[in-house]
Amino acid sequence: MSVQELNIAIVGYGTAGQAAAIYLARSGHRVRVFERSPAPGPAGAGILLQPTGLSVLADLGLLDRALTCGAPVHRLVGTNANGRSVMDMRYRDLDADWFGLGMQRGALFELLKSAFVHRGEISADIEIVGTSTDGRSLRDTRGDEHGPFDLIVAADGAASALRKEGMPQARDRLYPWGAVWCLCADPERRFDGQLHQRYELARRMCGVLPVGRLPGEDEAAHRVSFFWSLRGDVLANWPAAGFDAWKADVRAYWPEAADLLADKRSHVEFARANYRDVVMRRPYRGRVVFLGDAAHAMSPQLGQGANMALLDAQALAAALAGEKTVEGGLAAYTRERRRHVPIYQFISRWLTPLFQSDHDFVARLRDAFFGPFGRAPILRGEMLKVLAGVKCGAFGRLRPAAALAEESVRSPS
Ligand SMILES: Cc1cc2nc3c(=O)[nH]c(=O)nc-3n(C[C@H](O)[C@H](O)[C@H](O)COP(=O)(O)OP(=O)(O)OC[C@H]3O[C@@H](n4cnc5c(N)ncnc54)[C@H](O)[C@@H]3O)c2cc1C
Repeated sequence: MSVQELNIAIVGYGTAGQAAAIYLARSGHRVRVFERSPAPGPAGAGILLQPTGLSVLADLGLLDRALTCGAPVHRLVGTNANGRSVMDMRYRDLDADWFGLGMQRGALFELLKSAFVHRGEISADIEIVGTSTDGRSLRDTRGDEHGPFDLIVAADGAASALRKEGMPQARDRLYPWGAVWCLCADPERRFDGQLHQRYELARRMCGVLPVGRLPGEDEAAHRVSFFWSLRGDVLANWPAAGFDAWKADVRAYWPEAADLLADKRSHVEFARANYRDVVMRRPYRGRVVFLGDAAHAMSPQLGQGANMALLDAQALAAALAGEKTVEGGLAAYTRERRRHVPIYQFISRWLTPLFQSDHDFVARLRDAFFGPFGRAPILRGEMLKVLAGVKCGAFGRLRPAAALAEESVRSPS
């Protein structure tokens, strides 16, 4: 017996909202999405999907198409400014069939959107500000009310209005550092196969991730995502000394990465990002359930946020399908995600200052110990589990629902 044909509202059409819309519509529920943007679309440059997120795409029947436009990533390489290795981790050391996939956000958005077509309604240009007193309807900025609904899925991102209204006690802190990032051409494919980061203590971090092309584009449209870490107060006025001076700075720091910026003329070609650290004791209140960054925004240092959003959506639909009441479904959803989310919130909070902060001492410790830890038998396995997104609790491991081992989804190496 499962919860049947609910009338469900989803607030936000980012990765969490998109995946929830597909799963819940496929389970037979009536789904209506509310998105504040007049033209729903992706925000930002590129993203690394982990084996966890890829297993969700496989479950949705979208992995083959993701592989045709994304760029396989087999290895995470971090070097310091002297060229010394700080970390070098390969997915295959955890599981021979595993890999990551760099994707343009636009490609992931289109893929998920294509799976929702004709299955529900998307109401764009509606910004939700809160719920009605009984928690069953939504209120928007124009004063209109929508509903009632049997369930409201709050997938309105890290700065969630629904969380601020319904869960004011949740932890919600802004990290002191952020980043600027953009997509660049890499015609010679010098950055294929790996996420490469370069660090100077924790004050500078630059990274390059291959992210492939958009659906329908040809090979020549292959892109990499370039990112540059900045302290929050610097980010607001970046580039204070001028764009050309900043490019010269990048060239002195990492010439190969600076080559990628050759055709960039202005800082307006870059997206800026701040990160939040959001923790909720329980990801639902009444009939409002929180998914993705609205529930557990974290720093992108571990590259898990979008993967978590996909896993949340999968878990919510499965929990509702396995219970007789909505309340039972939400409790089951909470139990399932509690096995996985808190350890990443914890690690992300403690790891981020090792890569983005003014703490030179901790950065030196990182440089001294990350490499040896990454080679030590037990620690190496735990670090790989963190990277792949499958770490659960102290020593557990998430078993993704769909295997990546089948021949059809093997990564081209
Ligand atoms: C620089 C950077 C790099 C990252 N790299 C990675 C990575 O490599 N791998 C990874 O897995 N994750 C990464 N992340 C994290 C990832 O981007 C997020 O975790 C993910 O996008 C969260 O998806 P979401 O749907 O929860 O939120 P969002 O993508 O923020 O979507 C929220 C949606 O809700 C809409 N909305 C907001 N408020 C309202 C409202 N009041 N009413 C209606 N609609 C509303 C927004 O317009 C938006 O469409 C990165 C993040 C950053 C900042």
